[in-house]
Amino acid sequence: MVRTVCPHDCPSACSLDVQVADGRVVSVRGGDNPYTAGVICAKVSRYGERVHHPDRILHPLERVGPKGGAAWRRISWDAALDRLAAAFSETADRWGAEAVWPYNSGGTMGLVQRDGIHRLTHVMGYSRRKRTICTAVAIAGWSAGVGRIAGPDPREMALSDLIVVWGGNPVSTQVNAMTHISRARKTRGAKLVVIDPYRTGTAAAADLHLALRPGTDGALACAVLHVLFRDGHADRAYLAAQAEDTAALEAHLASRTPEWAAAITGLEPAAIEAFAALYGRTPRSYIRCGFGFTRSRNGAVNLHAVTCLPTVTGAWQHEGGGALWQHAAIFNWDKTLTEGLDARAPGVRELDMSRIGAVLTDDPDALLGGPPVRAMLIQSANPAVSAPDSARVRAGLTRPDVFVAVHEQFMTETAALADLVLPATTFLEHDDIYGAGGHSHIQAGPAILEPPGECRSNHALLSGLAARLGADHAGFRLTARDLADATLARSGWGGLDRLEAEGWIDAQPDFAESHFLTGFGHPDGRFRFAPDWAALGPRAAGMPALPDHWPEAEPADAEHPFRMIAPPARQFLNATFTNVPESLRREGRPTCLIHPADGVRLGIGTGDAVEVGNARGRVRLHARLAEGQQPGVVVVESLWPSAAFAGGDGGINTLIGSAPAAPNDGAAFHDTAVWVRAA
Ligand code: SF4
Repeated sequence: MVRTVCPHDCPSACSLDVQVADGRVVSVRGGDNPYTAGVICAKVSRYGERVHHPDRILHPLERVGPKGGAAWRRISWDAALDRLAAAFSETADRWGAEAVWPYNSGGTMGLVQRDGIHRLTHVMGYSRRKRTICTAVAIAGWSAGVGRIAGPDPREMALSDLIVVWGGNPVSTQVNAMTHISRARKTRGAKLVVIDPYRTGTAAAADLHLALRPGTDGALACAVLHVLFRDGHADRAYLAAQAEDTAALEAHLASRTPEWAAAITGLEPAAIEAFAALYGRTPRSYIRCGFGFTRSRNGAVNLHAVTCLPTVTGAWQHEGGGALWQHAAIFNWDKTLTEGLDARAPGVRELDMSRIGAVLTDDPDALLGGPPVRAMLIQSANPAVSAPDSARVRAGLTRPDVFVAVHEQFMTETAALADLVLPATTFLEHDDIYGAGGHSHIQAGPAILEPPGECRSNHALLSGLAARLGADHAGFRLTARDLADATLARSGWGGLDRLEAEGWIDAQPDFAESHFLTGFGHPDGRFRFAPDWAALGPRAAGMPALPDHWPEAEPADAEHPFRMIAPPARQFLNATFTNVPESLRREGRPTCLIHPADGVRLGIGTGDAVEVGNARGRVRLHARLAEGQQPGVVVVESLWPSAAFAGGDGGINTLIGSAPAAPNDGAAFHDTAVWVRAA
């Protein structure tokens, strides 16, 4: 049994105990860790199916014939790296270094294997990848008031009397959070409130589910704040000591009544009153903010409004109280070696990864006035499926004048469009270290299997490519283990030996710092009700000065009367696990959840084939009538491969626009207007 950690783009970063025999995974179980506590999700417990899948890419492949065709020939790693280096050099010679765009995403979350591509980018002066697809909106929304990406220890949820899961579905996407929530419910009789546009697995288990319209969380938060002030639940002493702009906030909220919010959210005023009263009278109230409600063009405003709740009641002061979105700041990572930050030259453009379709189709706005992108290396990412406006992404990747190399474990839809496909290791076949988005532990993930075929790690590929390009940096000369060791040491966490000996390092700051008793993350230590949005990104124009409903969204209209959200399916993780037989069997098929009233009106019943579309395209899938969401809202859990949709123009992200969110770009996966009709 070997201790490792789940590498996937999931806040849980579960500790894993993996049993291996004769070079094969025998079992994957939850490891001993104070947060993950021996629990893992079903999809990773079946990891053997994925790592030993017969469709693993085992050798470098070069395209034969036109892009998108299925003809490949096997080549050596040396030949593949020579070709990749030549493509990058020729592109840089002709168009300038910024015409090369190394691209990655969260296919692996280890610092060594995920982030090394930035080192190559910086050393060579290639276009940078602006990291917008997952967290940019939420980082802005959380930073606006709190000022630091951190918060109270999520284990404290077990000590709460009220847990509010706002815009997340931990039953499917962060299973360990439910361990701590369940403890609070069992031992303290704590209440669980879920705020989500549809009845998720978490909502179904809650004491109260507020199924608001997508993108109206700011209105709900404002109405709750209104009640908190109105009914004497505001902690005046705490506000005087810890927050700015309280008087302006209170005056502004006078008109943000539950009736006002009801008209926007679609909730009953009485439900808003009941939630506000429960929240106001419960000092130990912990809001676990998910990513879901931030994936709207107004998502930053909505998250900021939610962070105002524990500030007005002073819940931050109490054990089991406060709020948490992410924990990134507590690890204090020194990424000089992993990302090559010391080679980062000023003035190099940073292209929005969520707009890869616009970038590759030469949109001057997306290119920031610079040269076109003509060569890419894509690692740990499948943008043909997972990026917004995915028909345009595929159009860009298919261009004959754009050279694309994809380093992958499987022939994904992105890899299938590439010129060169390079076989990649899984986390069990390379060394790395991991922080966590949803808890405070640093963990090590050692290589415990021999790579199959000729699979190489991200780090090995990058080091080989760097040598050919003459890209010199200490990070390329170290082994993955040495990089991990040095990064731990530079970040103040000892080294890899200590980490492996102790099993984990808990980076949670002490209670006072975690609860911002020593100050929030702004220079004066005070929470901001009136944020400086312009300091958080270039798209702050029009953002409201105080928490509010900001109707910045892709609006429903007569032609597109439904608002669609595309949350994660339980058995998939973004585009990963969509080729694992048991995950596919459990998910069934792409399904559109439709309110029964809409079903009657459209003549659609459960099991019927439907089309969902807008100006960007259409997809075909099957309907399921579902209570627990409002009329006018449709839900398509994802990310299914395009081929799973029987006809249509691709996967669900075909319908999702790539217009950036405020104030600092970002993908708005739950902010889409569509039509729905029987197929
Ligand atoms: S995907 Fe998430 S919940 Fe599942 S094992 Fe990995 S970290 Fe844990």
